[in-house]
Amino acid sequence: MTISHGDLLYEGKAKRIFACERDGQVLVEFKNDATAFNAQKKAQLDEKGRLNCRISSCLFELLEREGIPTHYLGMAGDTWMVVQHVEVIPIEVVLRNIATGSLCRETPLPQGTTLDPALLDLYYKDDALGDPLLTDSRLALLDLISGEMRQGIEALARRVNAVLSPFFRAQALQLVDFKLELGLNAAGELLVADEISPDTCRLWDLACTDSEARILDKDRFRKDLGGVIEAYGEVCKRVQGACPTPRNCS
Ligand code: C5P
Repeated sequence: MTISHGDLLYEGKAKRIFACERDGQVLVEFKNDATAFNAQKKAQLDEKGRLNCRISSCLFELLEREGIPTHYLGMAGDTWMVVQHVEVIPIEVVLRNIATGSLCRETPLPQGTTLDPALLDLYYKDDALGDPLLTDSRLALLDLISGEMRQGIEALARRVNAVLSPFFRAQALQLVDFKLELGLNAAGELLVADEISPDTCRLWDLACTDSEARILDKDRFRKDLGGVIEAYGEVCKRVQGACPTPRNCS
């Protein structure tokens, strides 16, 4: 990386955020740390940072081409991304096209049920509280965001799904569900922030019918299925065709 970073501003489970000499920008370093179940399960997975940085860059450039605003500005080395500085909204937005994961643990809905329209849930981003599900009344009670912002978040997340689902399908991948984090830049514009990778999406190989072999995302780590990095590498191989040379910002 030729761009130099300043102070560490924030360290999350999978990324570090550093100050940057350029106004209004910060540097994101993708780590090899893998965590699940609110960091109760941890491991180091060589290459994960590089693969997630590459996959996220590719998907952010795809969204940008489709007119969806994101914090992404470019890559700055294998595991580094330059992004706009945003005020992160403390809400995790989850869109589900197929029922699995927590939805099937918490409701009687059978695994694999198609959800059309996609189910959108908001969670309060707070590790100490275990990222609880937010109902509309809890959202209003906590006064986290305005009704208008709630609508803007939902519309943006559904546009992301409308771009990513057919894109992944064309790479023989099913976008089962995914989590987005959103932020506001200095101009007050709502942007897709954080990352979009197999850490934050469930992706199933459409060329495979076996219910375990088809999993190409963090569920391989959560469920001790092995082959986590091989799966992430396969996703990277399929998506990078859409963006063979990600923008270099270093
Ligand atoms: O666990 P659950 O079924 O609610 O996850 C739904 C989707 O959101 C999955 O793709 C999962 O990887 C993602 N997610 C995430 N970060 C969280 C919670 C869920 O990326 N804190």
